[in-house]
Amino acid sequence: MTPEVHISSHPLVHHKMALLRDPRTDPKKFRELLREVAGLIVYEATADLATEEVPVTTPLAQTKGRKLSERVGLVPILRAGLGMVEGIWNLMPNTEVWHIGLSRDEETLQPVEYYSRLPGGSTVDVCLILDPMLATGGSAVAAVDILKRWEARRIKFVGVLGAPEGVRRLTTAHPDVPIYLAAMDERLNENGYILPGLGDAGDRLFGTG
Ligand code: URA
Repeated sequence: MTPEVHISSHPLVHHKMALLRDPRTDPKKFRELLREVAGLIVYEATADLATEEVPVTTPLAQTKGRKLSERVGLVPILRAGLGMVEGIWNLMPNTEVWHIGLSRDEETLQPVEYYSRLPGGSTVDVCLILDPMLATGGSAVAAVDILKRWEARRIKFVGVLGAPEGVRRLTTAHPDVPIYLAAMDERLNENGYILPGLGDAGDRLFGTG
């Protein structure tokens, strides 16, 4: 199976990414930009969702429309993934949100699961894992492992910035999970940060940097 990696080529995404990377962008503006970029990336990530025909009555006539026939669940990885939820909810207000808490052990750079309260079996057709930074790929792989144990039917990864190392690790471990990103950066530094990147997405979102 050939893994799918989609990097946005949309001018609006490029424009907003330059602002998001800029350290002069304060947390309020950073949150706003992240919401907007998340909405634009999810627009691309949901292009293949199934729809079904429904009758529609306009003020003038009867016609046919289409409605989504797949239930979508958002799975933000705490904490930076939270910054993407609102922008996607604006487009799909009925999506369920299931949080997964994965922190990074700063020495081993391995993910440590500290929160996940998924119900007995999958309640949605398509899970969108949300994490702005696909850095080492450790958290993304762990999140997909959790969702596959939950028997999620279809899983996609929706992020903002990717490093080649993280993309390689996720596509190797889970070639069936398509990846959607705003941009692909050059590499990771020795601390596992994406270069040129945007810094620590969680700190910039929550003003804790
Ligand atoms: N997480 C971040 O917030 N930034 C990085 O560059 C890598 C991981």
